This record gives sequence, C-alpha cells and structure tokens, in this order.
Amino acid sequence: MKNKKRSWLLICVFPLLSAFPLHAGRNYKVGLIVTGGLVVTMDGTRSIYEDGAVAMTGDTIIAVGPREEIEARYTGAQTIDARNKLVLPGFINGHTHVPMTLFRGIHDDVTLNDWLYKYIFPAEAKNVTEEFVRWGTRLAAAEQIRSGVTTFADMYYFEDAVAEETKAAGVRGVLGETFIDFPAPDNKTNAAMLAYTEKFLRKWQGDPLIHAAPAPHSIYTCSQKTLQDAAALARKYHAPILIHVAEMKKELDDSLKQNGMSPVQYLEKIGVLGPDVVAAHCIFVDAADRKTLAQRQVGCVHNPSSNMMIASGVAPVPEMRAAGIAVGLGTDGPAGSNNDLDLMEEIDLAAKLAKITRMDPLAINAKAVVEMATIDGAKALHMDKEIGSLEKGKKADLILISLDEPNAVPMYDVYAQLAYALKASDVETVIIGGRVVMRDQKLLTVNEQEAIAKAREYKKKIAASLGMK
Ligand SMILES: [Zn+2]
Repeated sequence: MKNKKRSWLLICVFPLLSAFPLHAGRNYKVGLIVTGGLVVTMDGTRSIYEDGAVAMTGDTIIAVGPREEIEARYTGAQTIDARNKLVLPGFINGHTHVPMTLFRGIHDDVTLNDWLYKYIFPAEAKNVTEEFVRWGTRLAAAEQIRSGVTTFADMYYFEDAVAEETKAAGVRGVLGETFIDFPAPDNKTNAAMLAYTEKFLRKWQGDPLIHAAPAPHSIYTCSQKTLQDAAALARKYHAPILIHVAEMKKELDDSLKQNGMSPVQYLEKIGVLGPDVVAAHCIFVDAADRKTLAQRQVGCVHNPSSNMMIASGVAPVPEMRAAGIAVGLGTDGPAGSNNDLDLMEEIDLAAKLAKITRMDPLAINAKAVVEMATIDGAKALHMDKEIGSLEKGKKADLILISLDEPNAVPMYDVYAQLAYALKASDVETVIIGGRVVMRDQKLLTVNEQEAIAKAREYKKKIAASLGMK
C-alpha cells in the first residue's frame, strides 16, 4: 500500500519537475549575486564555501554554494564581488531599546534599580515623544547596520514610530510596545496600552520586515493582569511576547517573597510562558527554571555587556544551551547598560565572560558564540525558518566583512576570527531582504549626518530637562 502511494507520487511529481528544469544547466536571471567570498552559511551542517556565492531574488535567497556552480546557473542583474571578504548571515541583536541611543551616557556607574528609578524613568517622562523615538531609531539604525545587525528585537514606547523608521531604514525588526504599570510616555493607562498595541499589531500584520509585538516590561513593573493581558493580545495576533526575565537579584528575591517562587516559575504559573516568548537576560534561572524554559520553548537572550556593566550577574549560558534552550545575543542598552549597539562586541564578550566566570577557557567556544549571534539568535526570536543562516528559501539577510585589515590576518579558524579578532568596523556591506542598505561602508537608507546632528541637539534638551550641564 505504501509503495503504491509512492509511485503515484512519482507519477504526479515527475511532469512538474520536467516542466521546470531548474538544474538542467540553463542560466537563470536573479536579482543579486554576491560572489567569490568565504561564505559561512551557519546552515544545519555549518557548511562553509571557501570560494562561494549567494544568489538572491526579491527578498529571498535562491541558492548558496561554490562560486563556479552558482555562476553557471545564475546571472545577477547586480553582482557584488566578495573576494577577500567573509560572507555570513546578518547578526541578530535579540534585545535592545533603540530610541535610548539619545540617552547614551546620561548617567552611568550606578545600580540598575537606581538607574531605572532615579534617572531613566524621570528622563523618559520628561523627554520621550514620538519625535524623540523617531530620531533615536534613525541613529540606532545607522549604528546597527554599521555593525552588521540585520534583525533586532526592541522594547520601547511609541513602537509604531520605531516600526516606521525601521522599515524606512530597511532593517528587520521584532518590535515590542511596552506594557508597564505606571503612566508611560505614550500610554497613560493599561487600557490605552492595550488599545495602542492592538492597533499596532493589526497595522503590521504580514509585513515582510516588521514583526510587531507586545512587550510587558517585567514581573517587577507589571501586575499579573498586565502580564496576562499582554500575552493574550499577542496570542490573538500570533505575535511574539518580549519580556525581561530574572534580570536582577532583587527581582528573584522579591518574587520568592511575594510569589513563593522564582520569576520563571511565576510566569509559568500565570500562563505567560510559551513558544512565542522571548526572554531577555535569564540570569537567575536554576536547573528547574531551565527545564521549564526548554519545555515551553522560550527563547532567551544573553546580554553580556549589560550584565557586566550593571553587575547584575552572569547568565548560565552553557547550562541553558545544554538544556536545549535557544540562546541568542543582545546588546541591551544602548544607554546605561552598554552603551552601544555593537553586536560583534557581544560575541567576543559572551565567550570571554563565560570563560572567566568559570575559570575555564573551554566554557564556551568561538563557534558557539557565532551561533548565538546568528542561527541561535533566530531560534531565540522564533524566526529560524526565516533568518539566521544562508540557505535557499530564507530571507536574503547577509553581511560582507573585510578580510584585508591588519586585524584580519592571518586566519586559521573563521569562527575564532569572528569572535576574537574582527570588529564591527570591518563590516563593509549589508544586505537585508535582498536590499543593499550599506555598500562599502556607505549607508544607503539612513541619513547618518542628520541623525548625528539631531542627537547632539537632543543632548542639550535632555540635559536641561534634568538640570544637568
Ligand atoms: Zn532591556
């Protein structure tokens, strides 16, 4: 019976295949070919092509492989020469707050609790408007593109404006509108937050670049009802849920006191955890918490710079990975807890932080941290069918990194080079959804000079509002 079915299938499929002889030696026209580079795919077998090429049409990758094969099969309307360059999937910044670029350096070297309640919440109340958010997002888009970030996950206010600016810059975003139990700069009540976010989710349904999401800030700033309302809204629209989880010791201690359980177990108990949740930090997660996170298929995002700068603690990344949790990387910040959006720095620090914490140079290796910045980051955002590796059918999000710099030679191991030697300033060309957004370090979708000038203007305004010089 089984064989019979199979032969029917062959009979049905065979005429289809012969009607479209994609592999029959003909040459097909595609939109763009990046050719001649060292292509690090991050696919399932971690294929690397020494002299490789990537062909794409529209926003999708059509083929990846050895240059000769790709050039024999495809001709690009546009070709980018990648000789002496590394070609790899764009980096994924799994957690940040991009409009806060305008608060960069406003007050550092304090505790997270003090920074939030004494400085940043008041500064936000006085300064954050839709216009502020737009300029902060433009500045961040320039900074992120320059460091090879092609997708980022954001949590802020006026997130619809973040989405519009992100789309204009041609960057892919998972953009979370914040739910928080005090009057926020955009929405003053929980009802207003729900209404704004529902409209936001509806507006961006089906957009190829923008994934709108509710972002309940954390268990320490949101009531059970706020958390559940945000999760229910996300689930109604099949949107992800972005949240900070177990990010400081105080949060853990308070949860143990108030809820009789850890932050992860509390979120599990109230029905928030699921395969749509992206949990930033996850520093205070014990073995039972890790088991729960893995079972619920929660994606976690590790932010080494932020954890070190605020001295919050060190996420047990090796144990999380061993438990089967998808762990991505994020910059957090960019104010007060970093203060930049350079994901390549996080790749380097994720490895070194794990090594020094355990006094073990084998704690996490270079390949693992490059995975966290690409394919595992995509898994953490629940987007690995779409992004995170260079594979046929995935979105054409790729970056070219120069291998002609003094810090790029000699090269024995490409993952080690990426993790420990190459820098964001070596990123030359960035393609997102088949669109070239930076070519030879020239930004094509953001007016960088204007964004920089505006940031300087905002600094004066913000400083004055806080009585600073
Ligand atoms: Zn954060």
